This record gives sequence, C-alpha cells and structure tokens, in this order.
Amino acid sequence: MESHLRDIASQFCPSNAIASLSPLGNGRINDTYLVRLTAPDSSFVLQRINATVFPQPEAVMRNLALFAQHATEQLPQLALPSDRRWEIPVVLSAVNDEQPFVYDSTGDLWRAIGFIDNSISVDSIQTVAQAEEVGIALGIFHTLVSDLPCARLTDTLPGFHITPRYLQQYDERLAAGLSPQHRENCADCMQFVEEHREVMGVLEKAKAAGILTVRPIHGDPKVNNILFDRHSQRAISIIDLDTVKPGLIQYDIGDCMRSGCNLAGSNATDLESVRFDLQNFQAILQGYCSVARSFLSERDYDYLYAAIHLIPLELGLRYLTDYLNGNIYFKVSYPEQALERARVQFALTSSIEQQRDEILIKIEHQQSHA
Ligand code: ADP
Ligand code: MG
Repeated sequence: MESHLRDIASQFCPSNAIASLSPLGNGRINDTYLVRLTAPDSSFVLQRINATVFPQPEAVMRNLALFAQHATEQLPQLALPSDRRWEIPVVLSAVNDEQPFVYDSTGDLWRAIGFIDNSISVDSIQTVAQAEEVGIALGIFHTLVSDLPCARLTDTLPGFHITPRYLQQYDERLAAGLSPQHRENCADCMQFVEEHREVMGVLEKAKAAGILTVRPIHGDPKVNNILFDRHSQRAISIIDLDTVKPGLIQYDIGDCMRSGCNLAGSNATDLESVRFDLQNFQAILQGYCSVARSFLSERDYDYLYAAIHLIPLELGLRYLTDYLNGNIYFKVSYPEQALERARVQFALTSSIEQQRDEILIKIEHQQSHA
C-alpha cells in the first residue's frame, strides 16, 4: 500500500522529494494522507475521492478549481482584520499533466491540495469562542463566493437538501408496505414525520417563489471541516470542498447549527440529553453575521429560523427512510443505529421548537444590527 501511495504522490512532486507519507485527520468520506516533502513548505494533502458518494469526481474537481480561483481573487476585497489569517486550499496540478488529478489503476481519482500547516481540526465545538469562529468561517466562505455565478458550478449532488424529495422517497417506501416489526419500531418517528409534513416544503417554496435565491454553498459546513490555527485557536480555513455547489445558504446555516448546537452529538443514546444549545447558537450566529451581514438580505434573515428547524428534521427523515430501506446509504455499526440517529435529530427538532421564541429574538437582534 505504501508504495502504491508513493507512486500516486510522486505524480504531484518529484519522487525523491517525499520525506514521509501518513494518514491524516478523521474524515469519513475520502481517504486522506499527508505527504511531507523535504522542502516542508510544499507539503501537501493527497486524497482519493470517494466514488460512491461522488459519481462525477471530475465535476467535483471543476467546482473546486472554480471556487479556489474565485475565492483567491475575492479575498483581498473582504478586507479582513490584519490579524485574521485566512487560507484558501490550493489545488495542485499533476507533474506530467495539466489536470489537477490523476487516476489510479482501479479507476479512482486522486488529487493533491496544499497542506495548511500549523492547523488543527476538532470533531465537536469545545468552547463558545470556538463556536463564534465556526460562524466567522462560514461567513467568510459565503462572502467569498457570494458573487460566483451558480451557472458555472455543476450540481454534483442533485436533490441534496430538497426536503420534499426526501419526503417523497419516504412516502414511496411506505407505499411499498412495511413489516409489522418496522411499524412497531418506528411508530414514534413516523408520527413525528406526520406532524411535520407541512413545514417540509418551506425552503423550496420560498426558492420557487423567488423569495430566496440560489447561491454557491459549501454543502458540509460542520466543525470538523474548519481548520483552526494551532496557536491562536482562530478559524483559518474551511476545507472539504467536494460539496460546493449551487443551493440556498440557509441549507449551510441550518446544517452548521444542527451539528454545532447538538452538544450530545448525532450518536447520542440518551434522548433526554439532546438539546439545541442556545449559547453555541448565539455565538455561531454572531460570528456568521459579523462577516455575512454585507450580503444578507432581509429575506435571508426571515428564513433563518425555518432553516435551523428544517435541516435536523430533514436529516432525521433521511435516517428513518434509510433504516426502512435496510441501511443502504448511511454507514451503520448495527441495523437499529439509523433509527436511533433519526430519533436524535427529531429530539433536536423538538428542542428547537421549544426554544423558538429565544431563537427568533437572537436572530432579530442580529438583524437589527445589520
Ligand atoms: P472527508 O471528506 O473525508 O471529511 P476532508 O477533506 O475533510 O475529508 O479531510 C479530512 C481531514 O484531513 C480534515 O478534517 C483535516 O483534519 C485534514 N485535512 C484535509 N485537508 C487539509 C489541508 N489542506 N490542510 C490541513 N489538513 C487537512
Ligand atoms: Mg471532512
């Protein structure tokens, strides 16, 4: 394996320049390695794109290259404070080719991205200061791409975050008939879905009515995809750009809050412990708006609560459907895990409903400072 990896790595650098090659990070989708070079400043990250998740890897790479070029041009316009380090991942070209990727003998696509040194990534938000940094990172990202025309990006994950489509897939599964055991096991979750049918279309309706507009989004803005400076602990980059595509920024904000404000985690086993944490919410929102204020419209603010409420509901619905389908999409350690994860997301949705007024006040507060 080591020599196979070295062969691939050496298509992005002179082979005698490789000092070491080791697995990197806790990513769940791609295979990621750090290739340290004898000239340390040019170390890079070597990644195999997961072909099951991304059936069009070359389109993913085109989006990534477009993003990187556009964001690099825009960064100076942002006039970030001079003490704010911000890095845009650099996509490397293969040595003997113009392309920014190579294929291995099994047909998998590999790419190389400049290593962002002196950085750390964390799997969950530890402090309120970190929560604010997460919001700042997403705000910087959205601002950098706010005028990148969507028509130039490929939709690499059609249907992603289109909640009514997930509901339709759920309904199709129900129509195919459930076993008595499934009916019994899932009764609570199925009831939750029935009680929430009406709200599932809220963002898509606003999109169709032209109230919300499609813009480039990150697609996976969870804390693990944000790099922090090892010394200052401030956010310095947002990585994992495979899901950059056209969408609603509300999807990203909802997803960021869903992962960042559930302190019990998405695999919580005690449902009582699942709460939407208002402190983290306020800090992420404050960080986000401090940067994104420049391009957020009144309508964007109007749909923030809807998004924060919808995205955990949507994920719960997807887990539930996948459980009923026999766990074909999400990886699980045991069959009931997807159902348990659905319950966690629905508990988070309920917690958001219970704190609706407080959440709305915090959003209004940000809006009034816009
Ligand atoms: P996945 O899609 O599998 O989550 P990521 O692109 O998020 O893959 O990479 C996995 C981990 O590798 C990240 O969480 C981070 O710790 C590390 N990593 C990835 N790219 C870089 C980079 N350019 N510089 C530094 N660390 C990186
Ligand atoms: Mg990742």
